[in-house]
Amino acid sequence: MANRYFVDKVPHPNGSHEVHVEGCSLLPESHECRLLGYHHRPETALRPAKTLFRRAHLCAYCAGEWQFNLIAQGEPLERRA
Ligand SMILES: [Zn+2]
Repeated sequence: MANRYFVDKVPHPNGSHEVHVEGCSLLPESHECRLLGYHHRPETALRPAKTLFRRAHLCAYCAGEWQFNLIAQGEPLERRA
């Protein structure tokens, strides 16, 4: 199931723009973020976000929850080299 993703238009103090899934409690007001469209995974939402803001990155809260769900499903996290 795809979810809508948004990116903060207002950078954080460190210059980063966070990508959030719709419904994230850290998602800013709608006029302060930009819709990235529907995505199945936070990583694919990050791609269009990075074309808008070079310093875009995933929200640790909602993307972290997604990673947690992956662990719960028994899928491995990113491979370590
Ligand atoms: Zn979030």
